[in-house]
Amino acid sequence: MLKLSRFRGGVHPPYNKRPQNERAIVPLAPGDTLKVPLSQHIGAPCVPVVNVGDYVKLGQLIGEVPEGKLGARIHSPVSGTVTGFEMIPHQSGGFCKCAVIANDGRDELDPSIDREGRDVDAMTPDEITEAVRNAGIVGMGGAGFPTAVKISSCRGKTIEFCIANGAECEPYLSCDDRVMVEHSEDVVRGVVLLSRAVNARVTVIAIEKNKPAAIKCIEAAVASLGAKVTVVQLPVKYPQGGEKQLIKAIMNAKVPSGKLPADVGAAIFNVSSCAAVYNACRHNMPLVTTTVTVAGSCIKSPENFEARVGTPFAVLAAACGGFCEDPAKVISGGPMTGAALSTLETPVTKTTTGLITFTAEEVKGEYDGACIRCGKCVGVCPMGLSPFLFAAYGEVNNTAALTRYHVKDCIECGCCAYVCTGRVPLIARIRAGKARVAIAEAEAKEKAAKAKEKEAEAK
Ligand code: SF4
Ligand code: SF4
Repeated sequence: MLKLSRFRGGVHPPYNKRPQNERAIVPLAPGDTLKVPLSQHIGAPCVPVVNVGDYVKLGQLIGEVPEGKLGARIHSPVSGTVTGFEMIPHQSGGFCKCAVIANDGRDELDPSIDREGRDVDAMTPDEITEAVRNAGIVGMGGAGFPTAVKISSCRGKTIEFCIANGAECEPYLSCDDRVMVEHSEDVVRGVVLLSRAVNARVTVIAIEKNKPAAIKCIEAAVASLGAKVTVVQLPVKYPQGGEKQLIKAIMNAKVPSGKLPADVGAAIFNVSSCAAVYNACRHNMPLVTTTVTVAGSCIKSPENFEARVGTPFAVLAAACGGFCEDPAKVISGGPMTGAALSTLETPVTKTTTGLITFTAEEVKGEYDGACIRCGKCVGVCPMGLSPFLFAAYGEVNNTAALTRYHVKDCIECGCCAYVCTGRVPLIARIRAGKARVAIAEAEAKEKAAKAKEKEAEAK
């Protein structure tokens, strides 16, 4: 039995997870045209390996990671013809090159996919990593970090805990919850494979207590598979699913500034990623679908869909019966960490978790105020930072002060913005501040390298 610790700060927003968390995942029929982003991960966009006019099969590789770069492969979510490459709005803002595929509706499988399935129990850590790399699996909780790279980064380090993250602490979202209920054995088998790949001593599936059905199904799957996995029930507090907060809860350890979970002996994987890892290892199945929660006040009938990547968000909204009121704001992801969408033509990616809508009344006066120095943001910050300073120094572009007060340690959980009395646009200022600090650091690094080169030449 693991003894759990609590992290400081955090908030308790209304979770609004019903009724979607009680409804089975609906497989969404892919539309006639899918626009598949060549960037669905942290790192460099993939390079297309197909041409306009090519016929592609479901699961066929269409985008390769550029040589020596961080990334994850992209595969076709349907069978059909590549009709072009277009720049399309991306869920994280900006535009992204997409492969446009005319769906032939036949779902003809790429021959690399093994319907029968291989014996995963015999797979070595290298074979697991290779299968995950080939399948283009990424962190599906929204982060999008390439999973094979995460596994490789654990090599040479002592990993105590391999943790499947089923906290899903964001309001409205219930996609991971439903995956744990409906694909519990895949989740358990996946985390067991990942645990073997990183050579972890203990394997844990961590779920917030407000998901009793998921806890029951995962516990039943662990028992029926005879897996050496501990199921942990986490206290309900946002952002319990943050990697650093999970490590605090389960290991009572702190990840030092600038370090990774692996540096303190932890490897953390989202539960949906775990299920995808099992399918990649067993069937060579690439990651071409994801579960998406569609909810919020403007949605007629909230649901969870299993959607192919490249499906426009408009198709998901329509499948819920459309809107009961025109949304004033639409978010991709959860309301605390998600990004506002400018158009519903934006396609679903491997990291899409939600499409959440808000009425004009709900977003009235949001983030248009000034700081009144109430200090509430400091009290709730789970990273022990002073968010009001980021707002103040961000406004006057003081990069040195932003660095001094550790803006880079911010996990962008949104707790500070949630409680802010002054309705300060904290997250926008923090994101801009982090970008400024990153640019300043890159410039300093370049300057130092040049100075070193000059020095070497002079010698
Ligand atoms: S400063 Fe960052 S980590 Fe702290 S509450 Fe705000 S968003 Fe969260
Ligand atoms: S909560 Fe908002 S108003 Fe209060 S100190 Fe922080 S930034 Fe200022």
